[in-house]
Amino acid sequence: MQPPSRIDHLGIAVHSITEASGFYRDVLGLPDGGTEEVSDQKIRVAFFEVGEARIELVEPTAPDSPIARFLMKRGPGLHHIAYRVDDLDATLAAVKAAGIRLIDESPRDGAHGMKIAFVHPQGSGGMLTEFCQPAG
Ligand code: ZN
Repeated sequence: MQPPSRIDHLGIAVHSITEASGFYRDVLGLPDGGTEEVSDQKIRVAFFEVGEARIELVEPTAPDSPIARFLMKRGPGLHHIAYRVDDLDATLAAVKAAGIRLIDESPRDGAHGMKIAFVHPQGSGGMLTEFCQPAG
């Protein structure tokens, strides 16, 4: 497969974007990429730009959100690493063919007009892995 071209973003699980964003925006001075709700995942996300990559703060909007369950089990902190790929379908097929368990068998809609898919942490050294490709 074509290797990912770069780290797109690091996803950080937080209880409150309002509380957590002060560090990234005011202390580090990172450009604020705005906040967006992804309703099918029951999350709200905020992006802060760091060079070519971004920090993604992820806040649950419902108690049954996967992020709410993560916060309950593990507390706030690094949640996933997202790699930018050119061909998400081909990447998923190659990863699956390598025997790695996928969470998303096919791409779905993420924030910022991205097609995204997650790989189970079991196959990647314990790190929840996201692949993303700009849609269209
Ligand atoms: Zn993400």
